[in-house]
Amino acid sequence: MIILLKKNLAPAAAAELARAAARLLPGASVKRSGGRLTISAARPQRLAEAAPALENLPGVEKAVLSDAELCPLACALPKRLPSSPLDFRRGPVFIAGPCAVEGEQSYLAAALALKAAGAHALRAALFKPRSSPYAFQGLGWPGLKIISKAKKLTGLPLVTEATDTRQVQRLAAACDILQVGARNMRNYELLKELARSGRAVLLKRGLRATLTEWLLSAEYLLASGAKKIILCERGDALARPGGPLLDFKLMAAAKKLTGLPVLADPSHASRDRALAAALARQALRAGADGLLMEASPDPFAARVDGRQTVSIETFRAITGK
Ligand code: PEP
Ligand code: MN
Repeated sequence: MIILLKKNLAPAAAAELARAAARLLPGASVKRSGGRLTISAARPQRLAEAAPALENLPGVEKAVLSDAELCPLACALPKRLPSSPLDFRRGPVFIAGPCAVEGEQSYLAAALALKAAGAHALRAALFKPRSSPYAFQGLGWPGLKIISKAKKLTGLPLVTEATDTRQVQRLAAACDILQVGARNMRNYELLKELARSGRAVLLKRGLRATLTEWLLSAEYLLASGAKKIILCERGDALARPGGPLLDFKLMAAAKKLTGLPVLADPSHASRDRALAAALARQALRAGADGLLMEASPDPFAARVDGRQTVSIETFRAITGK
């Protein structure tokens, strides 16, 4: 941790701050040079508690923690990709399906068509976080038997979003990967509950979330026992009109720091099926470990996000199957 001191602070005041830091962090090394204190050899929990106390002292400008200090578990993972429930070692992994499960016939038809077109796992969303309370919220629990049938029929793993802690156990019993939506990246109680489920967790980057915030959410999962995490970038173009649709630099940085697989979601990043198809290819060229993509046999009939859902033919062209 670096403690930046206020400009023109008297040497005696700086020395007193170094002593205060040493008192707050017994056993840590505190070095003073120029306008800063450099603190090392302290446990992350101690640092996290000492940082606000130090920032509260007169003469301190800012406490700066590195990603490794903030996210010790996420930054010390073995730098190799996990192989289950999805195998990321053999090239890009494709998770696809309609935005929401809407009915048995349409979903089972989509599941079979997507498998034939190269999907490795199915989007199987029963609970939809919608901006409007009047919009379709997903089938909810009655949809469970539909997605279970799709799993039996295709043998493909299911990826589903939990929007509330109360859904986690029951979804975990039926699905292979639990998704944290962009809106819930900062829902820390949900993250803890998902981690305790024992299932792999697909963690989307929240709107406007920085790399550090994203990693901290992964750290929550790891600290609560998650063993398998997949990151997914979905952009924040809607929050920043005119900005890049997906942040490839941020994806590369997340992968470098954690070694976790990093997917791209071109559908929610673009909100447009033609753009989504182009963005999917760009993401793969930029090194994404795979895609989470909205695709179905009849995008024009979708109740949710049809305009960003690609056809099976387009999806097949992307997977190259
Ligand atoms: C989704 O993938 O179904 C979804 C709701 O996306 P996001 O959380 O990125 O908005
Ligand atoms: Mn959607």
